[in-house]
Amino acid sequence: MKTVTTVSELNSVIDSYRKDGKTVGFVPTMGYLHDGHLSLVKTAKDKCDITVVSIYVNRSQFNQSSDFDSYPRDFQKDQDVLENIGCDLLFLPSEEEMDRVPLRYVYSAQGVDKELEGEYRSGHFKGVMEVVGRLLDVTQPTIAFFGEKDFQQYAVLKAFCDENEIPVNLALVPTKREYDGLAMSSRNVRLNADARKVAGKLYAEMMSVKAKAKNTDVSELLNSSRISLEKHGFTIDYFRVAKLKGDKRLFAAASLGGVRLIDNILIED
Ligand code: AMP
Repeated sequence: MKTVTTVSELNSVIDSYRKDGKTVGFVPTMGYLHDGHLSLVKTAKDKCDITVVSIYVNRSQFNQSSDFDSYPRDFQKDQDVLENIGCDLLFLPSEEEMDRVPLRYVYSAQGVDKELEGEYRSGHFKGVMEVVGRLLDVTQPTIAFFGEKDFQQYAVLKAFCDENEIPVNLALVPTKREYDGLAMSSRNVRLNADARKVAGKLYAEMMSVKAKAKNTDVSELLNSSRISLEKHGFTIDYFRVAKLKGDKRLFAAASLGGVRLIDNILIED
């Protein structure tokens, strides 16, 4: 695996792949890699000739600088993991390097960025669109891979790429979960032992709503799940059903012991 830190090095390596007629799969991440990230990398390897991963902790998508500062990082371990899994190229840019890439798109996402996370994390999706737009510009992949765990992020980026006519296919990869259903996330290491014991309850309540949704009033189910989660110590931002990109999904965001968890599952397509 090659590791590059500058756009010019990245361009020259990717140009050489393209000259050989290779398809390029791209997986943008913020690092501190877990099996969820690695399933994106494996899918990219299956679908494309070459796999490129970026690791960049993007300041502009964080709402609080303390959250950005304390975001877990272990670039050496990430590099080893990617090498072992057979990633071809790692792009590890500095903030200065990314800031030099022009912002040249419309960042409206046709309004998909306004609800759910958009209500609670003002400016978050603009930051995501800015960095992913820049990364797509410098990588120009055949397919870019995103996790279903952040389904709204995928929907925002799809709308962003469509609106700006960015020539890339976006692929969605299923959510990887821990033994108790907790969606894997780099932030999970911040859960203390007590919080970790109850964290799987979020997914359990989501699945319980899904199981009963056909025969019971969904708003009652959602209410009783919210009450149950609050009893277990969750502070809920939202736990609601919404339609995004034609899918009816149950979206959840809740904090537990100061760690904000997000998740979603398909209720109906
Ligand atoms: P992040 O490093 O959190 O920005 O995530 C990078 C990519 O990995 C995004 O497309 C996420 O949706 C995806 N991802 C994060 N966690 C998971 C997971 N548990 N399962 C599948 N994909 C994930």
